[in-house]
Amino acid sequence: MSGPRPVRAARGTELSALGWQQEAALRMLQNNLDPEVAEHPDKLVVYGGTGKAARDWRSYDAMVRTLRTLKQDETMLVQSGRPVGVMQTHEWAPRVLLANSNLVGDWANWEEFRRLEHLGLTMYGQMTAGSWIYIGTQGILQGTYETFAAVAAKKFNGTLAGTITLTAGLGGMGGAQPLAVTMNDGVAICIDVDPRAIERRIEHRYLDVKADDLRHALQLAVEARDARKPLSIGLLGNAADLLPQMLAEGAPIDIVTDQTSAHDPLAYLPTGVAFEDMADYAAKDPAGFTTRARESMAKHVEAMVGFMDAGAEVFDYGNSIRGEAQLAGYGRAFAFPGFVPAYIRPLFCEGKGPFRWAALSGEASDIHKTDKAMLELFPENESLHRWIKMAGERVHFQGLPARICWLGYGERDKAGERFNDMVASGELAAPLAIGRDHLDCGSVASPYRETEAMLDGSDAIADWPLLNAMVNVASGASWVSIHHGGGVGMGRSIHAGQVSVADGTKLAGEKIRRVLTNDPGMGVIRHVDAGYDIAETVADERGVRVPMREG
Ligand code: NAD
Repeated sequence: MSGPRPVRAARGTELSALGWQQEAALRMLQNNLDPEVAEHPDKLVVYGGTGKAARDWRSYDAMVRTLRTLKQDETMLVQSGRPVGVMQTHEWAPRVLLANSNLVGDWANWEEFRRLEHLGLTMYGQMTAGSWIYIGTQGILQGTYETFAAVAAKKFNGTLAGTITLTAGLGGMGGAQPLAVTMNDGVAICIDVDPRAIERRIEHRYLDVKADDLRHALQLAVEARDARKPLSIGLLGNAADLLPQMLAEGAPIDIVTDQTSAHDPLAYLPTGVAFEDMADYAAKDPAGFTTRARESMAKHVEAMVGFMDAGAEVFDYGNSIRGEAQLAGYGRAFAFPGFVPAYIRPLFCEGKGPFRWAALSGEASDIHKTDKAMLELFPENESLHRWIKMAGERVHFQGLPARICWLGYGERDKAGERFNDMVASGELAAPLAIGRDHLDCGSVASPYRETEAMLDGSDAIADWPLLNAMVNVASGASWVSIHHGGGVGMGRSIHAGQVSVADGTKLAGEKIRRVLTNDPGMGVIRHVDAGYDIAETVADERGVRVPMREG
């Protein structure tokens, strides 16, 4: 019987598969499970509550075995973390196709999902967990940094200096919040119930200090705020207890958000339950746990609304906490907006989104060289320059060295082709895996997050992510995935991902040019279709064809 063991991707140029496309999929699967990268690698859980990279250890072993023998004209099919077939295709086809956590509409709820998961028939793929392009907390860092920069621009004269942000959740994604706030010169108090999550963020230099208790946290925060010094403070406790307490005591908070794993009520600790008892209780009585977690989320959201009423800037950070609080009967759950309509949608209209790449060599110097290439490629893009510089200084790599930066239509293909040339010329030690989050401009339907409050009311239309996956397959991506339930939970989202490997060959260059044009192109056409002026301008200026606007 195969079981838990430490997993780490190979480094260097020696292949254990028949080509770099397959080797890249293998290394990225393994990198997702690297203890430096994954939140709970022994359970195959990468991030986001229970987001997994493989269904079970037997499936993991079978995927590794199959990737090592997969030919250049073959494709491995993965059904919710288990390899179910190898088919003959052709060299332009993806080497891996993945479908994770998909359920038929009426059955698409946590209860049914868990019944099927218990039978060993499915797994929760989250977004980049089940599609093998998670790169650690950095993956969300730039988006979080840009979101807080947008908050600063909207309400605080362009800087968070002299402000205090209150949030919870220091997990795989939420752990980016403290660094994103301090990169914007602000002070952050970040609550988590898990002492390990706090320690891990300090270890990785995403979080500055841990407070002894609430008093201490507030004292440190106020001192730093008054000195206009950036500082992030970890605070151990339950957000559903601490937020109402802080509101009642009139804590001087300017900005409130949250990134606990609220999308999955079994991953949110109810008040009155000890952290140590959480896993046991959730396993033994999922229905009772869910009810109590939702009641706690209602208290948590009620306090967030209270801070909003008191004048703070409050937003939902894409974890569905408003939806869960509403299910518990709290009437004002949607009083504050989600972060996409509030700050991000104009970027989506330009096809902008979280472009990322990982160095399969394992060499940090490969990423530093690509950083330099990005600065040369986009000399006029100030925010990109600021980001790349800061990331180079402050981001600790987890697993294979990687970088993220938001790029739009007409930019991603340029970067991808340059990277492929750098591999071809030998400037980089080995190929790169180029991918993105599923949280992107044209790859997701998620009415509580990416497609909340669309101009034409098309929030729940899920044809777009499916078209996105199909166009990426047709364009030559190395692996393509379609998932359900990522980010916001079962029944609430459908989304797609792609990864393209720059191995330095002419063929890879051809594929990359198409994929990295068409993939963000989906964002432009999706927002043109919904009636956004910015998207229409981008389509006109950059030559994106939209048949309904022609003739
Ligand atoms: P995670 O499971 O790795 O971390 C969640 C953290 O919340 C854990 O450390 C846990 O201890 C803590 N927690 C649970 N209940 C708590 C409570 N009552 N009080 C305080 N802390 C509590 O999850 P993650 O990967 O960090 O993702 C967090 C959420 O953000 C998820 O819902 C995810 O879907 C969402 N998300 C948002 C974005 C975005 O761009 N906004 C992107 C990815 C994920």
